[in-house]
Amino acid sequence: MEDIIEVTNLYKTFEIPRGDDIEVLKGITLKVKPGEFVAIMGPSGSGKSTLLNILSSIEDITMGTVLIDGEDLSTVNLVETRRHKSSIIYQDFNLLDYLTALENVMFPMMLTGISEKKAKEKAQELLERVQLAHRSEHIPDDLSGGEKQRVAIARALANDPKILLADEPTGNLDTQTGDTIIELFREIITEKKITVIIVTHDIQVAKQTDRILILREGTLHREDEILEEL
Ligand code: ADP
Ligand code: MG
Repeated sequence: MEDIIEVTNLYKTFEIPRGDDIEVLKGITLKVKPGEFVAIMGPSGSGKSTLLNILSSIEDITMGTVLIDGEDLSTVNLVETRRHKSSIIYQDFNLLDYLTALENVMFPMMLTGISEKKAKEKAQELLERVQLAHRSEHIPDDLSGGEKQRVAIARALANDPKILLADEPTGNLDTQTGDTIIELFREIITEKKITVIIVTHDIQVAKQTDRILILREGTLHREDEILEEL
């Protein structure tokens, strides 16, 4: 099967106007198959968020190539890629506070120009899928952390992405609630055949994925490579 993500020799340097450049990624190579569930771990500041932001085309590339579903991120229309190939969710949910759960899920669909009626129907289906239909009229302040993350997941699925990227999605949740989020990812992978990459600090969370990669000193390592060194 074709790889859905193919990163070759990726470098990322942040240029600091009045200081030394920060070389964060120094030759990342990563291949991910459709339907895989991958965890990325690594020390704080090692570049995990930077890597996810590059995969979701929020951050640009210094050197190297990133193919997402066969498309080279340096040549395609980034906005289109961002909308349709991948979605990203965060530790602090990033919901719009003044919109209801339903409106939050409708939001990315409205940006693509589909009718409000269609967006509403699909948002309702997605909220049902994450078992939050009964909370659709609530604003984020009236939801628990786990519920907010499920709204964020429903919103991330709104435009049928092929890849779901999650930056410490369980970081603000208790263990049990976190586990339900990981189970939800697994169900979505099975149902929709999408690919999920999560960044996590929690080894118990990482162990529930298909494979664990560790980002250290700018490069990615397989978990067993790191263990061999110890
Ligand atoms: P992690 O998610 O693994 O904790 P990050 O990807 O957030 O790490 O950050 C990696 C390094 O890059 C850190 O040293 C951070 O300060 C730096 N960095 C991240 N984003 C920027 C930016 N926009 N400008 C400058 N430096 C940045
Ligand atoms: Mg981070």
